[in-house]
Amino acid sequence: MHIHTKRSFAEPHISLNNPPTVTIRTLLIALRLRTRAMTQCPVGEPQCPVIDRLEALEAQIHELTAQTRTDNLTQLFNQRHLMICLHQEIERTQRTQLPTSLILLDIDHFKSINDTHGHTVGDQALVHLANLLRNAVRKLDIPCRQGGEEFAVILPSTPILVAKQIAERVRLALVENPLPLNGSSLEVRASFGVSSFPHNSSKSLAQWLEETDQLLYAAKRAGRNCVKSAVLSTSNPSAVSLEEKALLAQADATPPSNQVE
Ligand code: GH3
Ligand code: MG
Ligand code: MG
Repeated sequence: MHIHTKRSFAEPHISLNNPPTVTIRTLLIALRLRTRAMTQCPVGEPQCPVIDRLEALEAQIHELTAQTRTDNLTQLFNQRHLMICLHQEIERTQRTQLPTSLILLDIDHFKSINDTHGHTVGDQALVHLANLLRNAVRKLDIPCRQGGEEFAVILPSTPILVAKQIAERVRLALVENPLPLNGSSLEVRASFGVSSFPHNSSKSLAQWLEETDQLLYAAKRAGRNCVKSAVLSTSNPSAVSLEEKALLAQADATPPSNQVE
């Protein structure tokens, strides 16, 4: 069994291959202003190489900007974008008083998938999970590949119980959709940790990530292929939103799966 070590949630690494978005954005804005100001050729030519060049540059900058936030293999957002969005969502939570939730997930026994079927099939499993993840979350959610077989989803304006349901939906999507493989199929499973950041929280981003990571490890320790989430405080019932109360009532009516905490 793999012994988990603490993962590091590094700040975005800036290099020539990973240029700061702010610089690209600034360039883009400057170009837009120029192209807007110059929608027609300054000397009245019907075909203007200057305008064409500006438009081509604008398209290139769009493309480069997208690349700086995209994971090459899965086309999900990358670790760098995850960290930028987490900072933004904490700020938004403090402003709007709507909680942000976070799901961290890690494929179970992924090393043995690689060892048994080869690295190419391992990569296919990563893409398969990414596609299921993209389809299972909502439009406003932010699905990311952190690296290796580790993924994260930011759920803006989402209470913990809703986030927990979404994690369970992803888990089930994996169970119900094995990866097709040369006439047979390969089971891919994952473990999940879910927690939320309430508007009145005093924890730092690093503490929030650590807390969610611990829940993911708790899911691993509990046997994998399950969801573990932060326990909802019952000492302050008014902290439970109407949406969460409805979900709690639903959960009471249906016997909970032993896979979900
Ligand atoms: P656990 O259930 O405890 O999470 O075990 P695990 O085997 O999933 O975890 P472990 O950390 O032991 O192995 C992860 C493996 O993922 C090891 C590494 O070679 C492989 N890996 C990392 N990145 C990639 C990748 O991009 N493609 C492929 N195919 N494998 C990768
Ligand atoms: Mg891992
Ligand atoms: Mg793993």
